[in-house]
Amino acid sequence: MYTGPLQGLVDELGRLPGIGPKSAQRIAFHILKVPEDAVRLADAIVAVKERITMCPRCFNVAEGDLCSICADPRRDATVVCVVEDPRDIVAVEKTQEFRGRYHVLQGALNPIEGVGPDQLRVKELLGRIEGEEVAEVILCTNPNLEGEATAMYLARLLKPLGVTVTRIASGLPVGGDLEYADELTLGRALEGRREVDA
Ligand SMILES: [Zn+2]
Repeated sequence: MYTGPLQGLVDELGRLPGIGPKSAQRIAFHILKVPEDAVRLADAIVAVKERITMCPRCFNVAEGDLCSICADPRRDATVVCVVEDPRDIVAVEKTQEFRGRYHVLQGALNPIEGVGPDQLRVKELLGRIEGEEVAEVILCTNPNLEGEATAMYLARLLKPLGVTVTRIASGLPVGGDLEYADELTLGRALEGRREVDA
């Protein structure tokens, strides 16, 4: 539709999540108009791809080796909060109710889309229980079908290992994503967590 590089940019933008063809064209023409913004954007994309890695312990985003939370000696290593996505860590951190460490599953069980335990960081979580003197695991997956199924699955695996397994309290908007919950609600859900019977 457009000439060479412009069409290339529209195509690339259109591949991004949540950006339809109309938005892709609008952003592409905006970038065309304001050159200095474009350089900043391009630099930011390159910097993220070059410098941001994955924490080898918890699979949060990191710059360098361990992520900033794993590298912080003031964090309580005996409590691990299990989340689906690094964005959920930001949501929990905002509540200021949690001083432990995290474990990012990188998704939730979803048989229809072919996501089983092997596609998630489940093995790594089990490995941490023995290696890090973890006493409590808080299952902080999303309050939707996949998140609940994942929490129940993990509870069954974790309980025989002798750790306390808790689930964040209900009260979060059902079917929603953790990252959209407000700090107060999520903070209360964490505080009101209950031991899971599995
Ligand atoms: Zn980490």
